[in-house]
Amino acid sequence: MSYLVAANWKMNKTVGETLEYLDLFLPSVKELTKVEIMIAPPFTALSSASIRLDAARKEGEYNVKLGAQNMFYEEKGAFTGEISPLMLSELEVDYVIIGHSERRHKFGEKDSLINKKVISAVEHGIRPILCVGETLEEREQGKTLSVVERQIRSGLSGVERDMIYIDIAYEPVWAIGTGVNATPEQAQEVHRFIRSLINEISKGNDSKTRILYGGSVNEKNARELIKEKNIDGFLVGTASLDPERFYRIITEVMEV
Ligand code: PEP
Repeated sequence: MSYLVAANWKMNKTVGETLEYLDLFLPSVKELTKVEIMIAPPFTALSSASIRLDAARKEGEYNVKLGAQNMFYEEKGAFTGEISPLMLSELEVDYVIIGHSERRHKFGEKDSLINKKVISAVEHGIRPILCVGETLEEREQGKTLSVVERQIRSGLSGVERDMIYIDIAYEPVWAIGTGVNATPEQAQEVHRFIRSLINEISKGNDSKTRILYGGSVNEKNARELIKEKNIDGFLVGTASLDPERFYRIITEVMEV
């Protein structure tokens, strides 16, 4: 399984800024191997990014994958403001981030909704990255592993046998966008736990499932984190907004 380094741009970058970024970024990763790269721009830039990435692929440039930051589970209907899996498939979106902590905590997404989205993504051939992670308060109360276990068991309910099509991102809420990353030891403890949990629920069918770490990853801390055995890549927010910083994170991962 290759490492996955994924960019979550959140609500940043217009179409013009997306194309500018890709024009700088794609040539820089031309020669890279070993690492799978994914970029998740906002919905409005998906179409343009998809066309640009497709052209790069045809020119023999690096195969950078496209991701969406969210998705509704129904194919169509009266769901104002939502985006369906069919709409993402049409744009050749490869990945979808599901259950990001900002969706859970700022938009009130619950485990049951997140589960429906994961199931729908798998059914439509879009690889979900299921995000899990505890708040600072939960960590201080010693609830980290139980929170993560609940989020994983319910997020994956019904797709336990489909783990080869799913990735997980451990993103402690207190580390997202704060500049404070989990230490390699803190991350390792949870990643090891997640690996054993998905191994148990999938009955060993999890060999292709990557467990990404997310939370203030940058070009300075990437190397010490990626050295940890159960860290299979990163989901990067802030540092991925700058093509040069994102590139440097990727090269740190390649060195391992
Ligand atoms: C994220 O948005 O998934 C994230 C990890 O953000 P940041 O890298 O800014 O902490």
